[in-house]
Amino acid sequence: MIVVMKVGTPQVEIDRVTAELSTWGLSPEKIVGKHKVVLGLVGETQELDPYRIEEISPWIESVLRVERPFKRASLEYRHNEPSEVVVNTPSGDIIFGQNHPLVITAGPCSVENEEMIIETALRVKAAGAQFLRGGAYKPRTSPYSFQGHGESALELLAAARQASGLGIITEVMDSPDIDRIAEVADVLQVGARNMQNFSLLKRIGRQSKPVLLKRGMAATIDDWLMAAEYILAAGNPNVILCERGIRTFDSKYTRNTLDLSCIPVLRKLTHLPIMIDPSHGTGWSDFVPSMVKAAIVAGTDSIMVEVHPNPKKALSDGPQSLNPDQFDQLMQEIKPLVQLMGRERQPVLVR
Ligand code: PEP
Ligand code: MN
Repeated sequence: MIVVMKVGTPQVEIDRVTAELSTWGLSPEKIVGKHKVVLGLVGETQELDPYRIEEISPWIESVLRVERPFKRASLEYRHNEPSEVVVNTPSGDIIFGQNHPLVITAGPCSVENEEMIIETALRVKAAGAQFLRGGAYKPRTSPYSFQGHGESALELLAAARQASGLGIITEVMDSPDIDRIAEVADVLQVGARNMQNFSLLKRIGRQSKPVLLKRGMAATIDDWLMAAEYILAAGNPNVILCERGIRTFDSKYTRNTLDLSCIPVLRKLTHLPIMIDPSHGTGWSDFVPSMVKAAIVAGTDSIMVEVHPNPKKALSDGPQSLNPDQFDQLMQEIKPLVQLMGRERQPVLVR
């Protein structure tokens, strides 16, 4: 349920309404929008009469029921205002959101060694990325495949962060690793295979770093938004949704089917920012550039692309990785599309 306060409601009145609703056993969550303040009420609201709430204050404009099963993730919960996920990086705050410049994340599937991660970081930064991605802990289908270098790779990510000024996005597979990973990462990634690992979602929701939640390979959009709801309900409002392809019947030519239609669908359902990952979505580097372009024009807030200095030698996901020159070219090619969508980033003035 949400309580929409009238424009210009004094703060003391908002506090009074909040206190009153708290005596009813509810925990109102204050959401400050551009024009209005909204109080979100989640919990045992089924029996509540909206008219009784309206009587609390003349400053209440309306009381609306959120019909979706995902409450905090729903667009209604923020009264149709997109949320912004602000990430502090060494080069300043980067904002993921619908009314903000396109955010670009690039890097290898796994962090292999210091030289390759630093080289990749510097190249993708020079091409225009804001984040370096790279796995220290890798969720591999086979236990015999390279599993990531684990903790030692976190140190390499920290070095790449320092050398390049990029923010770091890396995957968390297991709850006990969260605190150590959060010391290095600016955004914690929950991978497709862990999208419904509910204990991990609850634990990651109790820490404060923003979370990139990948869509499970067989997850419906409702499943995905309910997974986001776990993180939001645990107290972390900073969730970015990442589409990375779903499994369908034809895997002969593409690894997955990149569901770009999720972009307009999510826009109707949720306020959360969206990222598209065509590398895992298609599985082949040849197909990545066109899908990046399509995602931008479909209105994504950010993209994730795998880039490796020598994809043929990559320890994981080489076939879907661009090399740095290909990434440079892609960044040039998307410029007019980014401009078309009004998503350009103003150059930072270095004095
Ligand atoms: C990755 O980002 O390298 C990864 C393993 O992604 P996903 O969870 O989408 O397969
Ligand atoms: Mn990968």
